[in-house]
Amino acid sequence: MRTARVGFFALLLFSVGLYAQEQPSPQKVLSEEALVKAMHGISSHTLYNYVKDLSSEKYEGRLTGTRGYDDAAQWAADLFKLWKLAPMGERGSYFQDFPNAYTLVLDGGEVTIHVPVGEKDTLRKPYRYEDDFYPGSTSDAGSVTSDVVYVGYGITAPELGYDDYNNVEVKGKIVMMEPEIPISPDKQPELFRKWRPYSFHDYKMKNAFAHGVAGVLYNYHIVNPNCVFIKGLVITYVGRNVINDVFLGTGKSRDTLVQRIRRDLVPVSFSTGRTAAIRCATEHHPEGIGRNVLAFLEGSDPDLKNEVIIVGAHLDHLGKNHLLMPGANDNASGAAVLLGCAEATAQMSGLTKRSVLFILFGAEEQGVKGSEYYLAHQPIPNARVKAFINLESIGRGEKLSVGAGKNYPQLWDVVDRNNRKYIHRPIVADSTANLGPTIGIGAYGARPLPVATYHTTRDKIDYITPEILEDIARLTFLSALEMAR
Ligand SMILES: [Zn+2]
Repeated sequence: MRTARVGFFALLLFSVGLYAQEQPSPQKVLSEEALVKAMHGISSHTLYNYVKDLSSEKYEGRLTGTRGYDDAAQWAADLFKLWKLAPMGERGSYFQDFPNAYTLVLDGGEVTIHVPVGEKDTLRKPYRYEDDFYPGSTSDAGSVTSDVVYVGYGITAPELGYDDYNNVEVKGKIVMMEPEIPISPDKQPELFRKWRPYSFHDYKMKNAFAHGVAGVLYNYHIVNPNCVFIKGLVITYVGRNVINDVFLGTGKSRDTLVQRIRRDLVPVSFSTGRTAAIRCATEHHPEGIGRNVLAFLEGSDPDLKNEVIIVGAHLDHLGKNHLLMPGANDNASGAAVLLGCAEATAQMSGLTKRSVLFILFGAEEQGVKGSEYYLAHQPIPNARVKAFINLESIGRGEKLSVGAGKNYPQLWDVVDRNNRKYIHRPIVADSTANLGPTIGIGAYGARPLPVATYHTTRDKIDYITPEILEDIARLTFLSALEMAR
């Protein structure tokens, strides 16, 4: 290692002095020994502590636009600087800032249904936060009490001859609504394409509001800020218990109605006669600013350094849905692995022909806003990107998967070979439709957990396995480095 370095510097000085145009050939000095040493520098202990720290109260769940997110971004930038990776953001900084409105969800969210008891009486039944409902992540503050109208998928599509709001009165009322669309992409791909614009949360909320709806009971029982904020619309995400109670005594079943829509593509909307009261306490910040964090290792070949390998992960999560959303797996794990890979890669300065760019994206959870901004403001044009390795939710599992590995066999080969040589985990290539030379290194095959963790308060450090973080960071480092050589 030491000999190699001294040799490298001697060669560099020599070439600068005598042959200013010549560059040292990187492959001559990147020894197997140096590579293995940098790989072993990636430690499960360090990566686990990154995840633990990022998912703690300190960073407030990392909702893009909040101080908690900014602090996490600054912390990552400080590490990049410490490792002497170059800033690749705006004005010589590590940051690429973009407009990003956000909504804080405060304590005080409630859902109550007036449930019939016997012939005449009703019971005001309150529901439990998280087990039964979440306040909508982009709800306006306020409360609504009204009878509930079931509006199926909440779609108005004149060109498809379909309208869930036909023949129901919803002005000032609460609607109960399904997510997605009643078409399967596998069974009816043609039709799916036509219906797809109606599948987005944004569309459904806008359409509800356009019909005068005041409150939404949305059958989407996870925390999710990937939705538009609409002044005057109170949104709650509800699960089975609330849905069953709304349908109780109506003589109808929600599942049967959904099946009928899917089968006949005919609306089944009706006024349930149930009264609900919903309340959300939120604070909307239209002035929010998000940021991506970009760090760069320049390649040493005068031509090939213009080509780049990108390692990316989203740094953000859901913030607080009044309680902390830790996001340990989603995606503190990916961010931590990226950092481990970056630290090792920084030690390879001058030893790669191509350049390597690390990007921690903001606002993925708010609808991939950070990635969109990056694509519109690329510091390196996409045509020069030879590979993009994405790291997403990789804190649990025994086996490795390479997303889109089947679509990009050259990239898969590199990862597969390095896994066989150094990591020795079972590995498979997946097929994913995407737009460029992009793969995702993932983990699967974990023992099932006793609780739902995805976009809940339970995505905690307790369920993260240090060893898989270490292995994926090492594999990403080895693979990115080989692609950059
Ligand atoms: Zn997520």
